[in-house]
Amino acid sequence: IHALATAPGKSGVAVTRLSGPRAFDVAGALMTSLPKPRVASVRALQDRDGALIDEALVIVFDGDKSFSGEPTVEFQTHGSMAVISRLARVLSSFDGVRQAEPGEFTRRALENDQLSLLQVESLADLIESETEAQRRQAVNGFAGKVAERIELWRHDLMHAASLLEATIDFGDEDVPFDVTDEVDRSLARLSENITREINGFTGADRIRSGFVVAIVGPPNVGKSSLLNAIAGRDVAIISEIAGTTRDVIELRLDLDGIPVTFLDTAGLRETDDVVEGLGVERAMKRAESSDMRVHLVNPGEKPQLEVRDDDIVVVSKVDLSGHHGISASTGQGIEELLKNVSLRFKGIVNDAGILSWQRHVASAQDALELISVARTELKVGPDNYVIVAEEVRAAAR
Ligand code: GDP
Repeated sequence: IHALATAPGKSGVAVTRLSGPRAFDVAGALMTSLPKPRVASVRALQDRDGALIDEALVIVFDGDKSFSGEPTVEFQTHGSMAVISRLARVLSSFDGVRQAEPGEFTRRALENDQLSLLQVESLADLIESETEAQRRQAVNGFAGKVAERIELWRHDLMHAASLLEATIDFGDEDVPFDVTDEVDRSLARLSENITREINGFTGADRIRSGFVVAIVGPPNVGKSSLLNAIAGRDVAIISEIAGTTRDVIELRLDLDGIPVTFLDTAGLRETDDVVEGLGVERAMKRAESSDMRVHLVNPGEKPQLEVRDDDIVVVSKVDLSGHHGISASTGQGIEELLKNVSLRFKGIVNDAGILSWQRHVASAQDALELISVARTELKVGPDNYVIVAEEVRAAAR
């Protein structure tokens, strides 16, 4: 299989990878001689009629040293659309060679044990990462820091199981020993650790997918203007006619490394207009499910929606009234508002755990349940050790 590893389009250099048992034969047919493994060398790439495709830097990887775990050849050509597609066509013209499916290189890396499933997930997160917090979380997972922690849990569980089993094996001898306390202490500690990590999922998940802040308030209070002021460019239509913001408009930001999406919701008010009514309903739903609401109010007025713990209430158009709050016109108070928003999310981000995918949490919960069953069985005493050890091993698995 072959695929472009870099983004499609014009660039200085484009990387095309070729992976599979016949990679060296096929690559060898395009050049006078294949470079030695992992020694980058310039080669003239030729098609099967001997016509020049491009000059490229070529790197050869043996199967055990490549990303996919198969013999791999990397072609660093010039980043031109024509070169990229010519090379792809020439490669596909060989028997048994085809364009890779999306994710196929990574799939092979997983199947050939070059990457663990945790690393594959982290790699996806790393490629998607747009902010510093996202990068940090993803790269730790990819580098095996998450796996290390989980391996410690597994190690403790296996140790507890062996303690119990040792007691079973030597149970008939003169020295009876009761390991109930020691095993229970160890299982209790594990339960605590795993529970803490499960609770830290909210933070880790928000780092991955971002926080959502809904800007809510009555028509004409200045929601669209605030979003525009935040963006520093026009993303929403500003109008003095009430109810023109019929849909939900989004603005994605990097706030001190935290990904935050701001929503401009339709003006919240009773309406007879069907289309506007739908907009209001959609806005209410999005506002409801957001992580935080910024309630914009006119001076002297109260928010229309219920204000929850994490919400911020702020007075709009203070350039007209002299109140403390924000002004989309002068930019006053907007920095402070953004600071307050990011401060509220910082706490959640700092409590982020190592489990960042729903799959990880589900596994951790399974283990936790088995540990809890094991601890209940353990209370019966040494007669029950066989069953307890089985539960503990299941938790480790
Ligand atoms: P929305 O319906 O809540 O989205 O309100 P808009 O953002 O469309 O603003 C309604 C009107 O108020 C527009 O004419 C804006 O120019 C004006 N406006 C918005 N923010 C400010 C502000 O900070 N100061 C002043 N003086 N006018 C503002």
